[in-house]
Amino acid sequence: MKRFQQNIRKVVPYVPGDQPDFPDMIKLNTNENPYPPAPEVQEVLAKSNAEQMRLYPDPTAHQLNAAIAEAYGVEEAQVFTGVGSDDVLAMIFQTFFNSDLPILFPDITYAFYPVWCDLFRIPYEVQPLNEKLEIVPEDYYKPNGGIVFPNPNAPTGIALPSAAIEEILQHNPESLVVVDEAYVDFGGETVLPLLKKYENLIMVQTFSKSRAMAGERIGFAIGSVELIKALHDVKYSFNSYTMNRSALDAGTAAVQNAAYLQETTARIVKTREHTKQVLAEMGFRFPDSKSNFLFVTHPDCDAHELFEALREAHIFVRWFDSPRIRNYLRITIGTDAQMESLFAFLRAYLKK
Ligand code: PMP
Repeated sequence: MKRFQQNIRKVVPYVPGDQPDFPDMIKLNTNENPYPPAPEVQEVLAKSNAEQMRLYPDPTAHQLNAAIAEAYGVEEAQVFTGVGSDDVLAMIFQTFFNSDLPILFPDITYAFYPVWCDLFRIPYEVQPLNEKLEIVPEDYYKPNGGIVFPNPNAPTGIALPSAAIEEILQHNPESLVVVDEAYVDFGGETVLPLLKKYENLIMVQTFSKSRAMAGERIGFAIGSVELIKALHDVKYSFNSYTMNRSALDAGTAAVQNAAYLQETTARIVKTREHTKQVLAEMGFRFPDSKSNFLFVTHPDCDAHELFEALREAHIFVRWFDSPRIRNYLRITIGTDAQMESLFAFLRAYLKK
């Protein structure tokens, strides 16, 4: 092997969910929102002017950060935005996890965390979920280089109450605790009120799920002015212009319409609760999800076979080839009509 080949960074990349493209498909595999974004987003995009593309966007993302700050009741200097929460989280890993001690996260969680650890050479130690697939707060009461977990967790959908997160914070005054709230708007408790009390806490959210803007790529973090300044320093050492013009405008319009967010998330929660009932009647088992997906298993069928059968029928869900969860499927909550098609398929499948 030549030296240049030896010098290539070897990484095992994160594998995102498929983006199949069939006109008749029911896409329940990447936790997207089945409804469109707020109407103002469409209006802003319709008014956008290609001529302006010759100009760089605002590197400070002032308009969007200020709108997020306003919506969440914090200072603009407490807000950091990135190209989806993946970008924000990657920046957080790079900025804050520079300890020789391992960072801690659950064994069953967002599969990107270990990938960033490998990429940035961050030591980590996974903490097994209990047999009910819950995070055990006590597992995080030990020396560490930082803590990160989604709340609700993915792919289980289980939410930790704020009190449990506060326990973790109290046991870790020397560590940064990152709470990835990608799915919090569907029924979890946000750590936003805890930010005033804990200088070592960072909250991360995304516009991809509850705001139905996965394609626009907007995520954000809120934390102390000191932590957000550190994140900006790393961002400006990497790429000044992460947020493009349309993301800045569309994101601002979206965050200003709180009523629409409430209305669409409530609709998804209603469909989720109905889906729980129907799937339970069919014999599926699942943890009590507070997110926009259910993590289901059935005693009488093999999850991978069911996944393949659904795929044949152009109903796309997510199956993870990883220990402990091989017999589960993660099903995103779609519209009522999409869920009815899923139920019809499953009823026929289970009768076979
Ligand atoms: N965190 C969790 C837990 C997720 O499931 C996802 C979605 N794949 C993300 C972060 C990243 O989402 P995005 O980059 O679209 O904001």
